[in-house]
Amino acid sequence: MDLTDEQTLELTKQFIRAESVSPRDEGCQLIIADFLKPLGFEIEHMRFDDVDNLWAARSNGNPDAPVFVFAGHTDVVPPGPIDEWRTNPFEPVIEGDTLYGRGAADMKGSLAAMLTSTKRFIENTGNYEGTLAFLITSDEEADAINGTVKVLQELNKRGSPITWCIVGEPSSSETLADSVRIGRRGSLNADLTILGQQGHVAYPDDADNPIHAAMQALAELVGTCWDDGNQYFPPTTMQISNIHSGSGVNNIIPGEMNLVFNFRFSTESTEVSLKSRTIEILEKFNLQYRIEWSLSGNPFITEGGELIAAVQSSIKELLGIETDLSTAGGTSDGRFIAPYGAQVVELGPCNKTIHKIDECVSIRELQQLSRVYTDILQRLFTKPG
Ligand SMILES: [Zn+2]
Repeated sequence: MDLTDEQTLELTKQFIRAESVSPRDEGCQLIIADFLKPLGFEIEHMRFDDVDNLWAARSNGNPDAPVFVFAGHTDVVPPGPIDEWRTNPFEPVIEGDTLYGRGAADMKGSLAAMLTSTKRFIENTGNYEGTLAFLITSDEEADAINGTVKVLQELNKRGSPITWCIVGEPSSSETLADSVRIGRRGSLNADLTILGQQGHVAYPDDADNPIHAAMQALAELVGTCWDDGNQYFPPTTMQISNIHSGSGVNNIIPGEMNLVFNFRFSTESTEVSLKSRTIEILEKFNLQYRIEWSLSGNPFITEGGELIAAVQSSIKELLGIETDLSTAGGTSDGRFIAPYGAQVVELGPCNKTIHKIDECVSIRELQQLSRVYTDILQRLFTKPG
């Protein structure tokens, strides 16, 4: 362990001690700013509503040279029942190589690795041409309304495009960097109410049962093949998560049935195509209904480019493995960054314990992650042209 390795661990511990349950930051961004300032970064705190965001940039040489951004979040999900944790979730505890604490893997450890990797890069490389930046929010785990999305709108107004972006989300499954994410599926929610007419179960002719009316349409909805996916994405899936109807008694035909469902969709489908196919099915069975849609994110993909190449080479050279280029998992802030034309890769520690009781991370892997990040920076910024 050298000094920088020590610092990766120390910073992670400091972050864990901050009880930054979403959307609170609890001083994490000040720690980041204090670390980056002496390295020559210009710090900008961007507060939108109740959310703290930080933009820190260090430019060198030609202003038109590439812009590399580390993106991440300081907020964490709530710890859940504290007495089920073997340790206090907001007190970092080390056992062997394992560091326990809420946010250890998602994603306070990555933040620490980003900081120390940057320090190592600047100290070793000195003269790069381009901009190094940090885009840090405390609104990723909750609404994601006043975080990354707003910072990007602001940056876009100023015309500062992002060339390459690494998001520190925990992308690895079994061992560090066995998997990186180069895209994510889209997510589309529907809240559907089938309308009927309430009545006595003994007099069905005087009522219109919305449950019965919905049956065939639902069977068709869940049986539909929305697309076959492609080389980057599995086929689009549709899942019903809630169904409610009736008042709990056995002699009333209910007047309404409500259901909530979600699409996780590939780039072979679009928000518009999924909506129109759903409506087609509902109309085919002559249902009376109301439907409300909300889009959580469009699918995105980074195909090829220098960033993926650098990430693959660094992982191969430092860790000796071929990383899997994946699009699995839930949404992340990458969905806001990619549409601006940036190459986006998510690379972070193992995700086995994220959002769980006893969240933890391998200390050695965090320190390796910092070295991998540095190596990626070196490859990107020393590449000719
Ligand atoms: Zn996260």
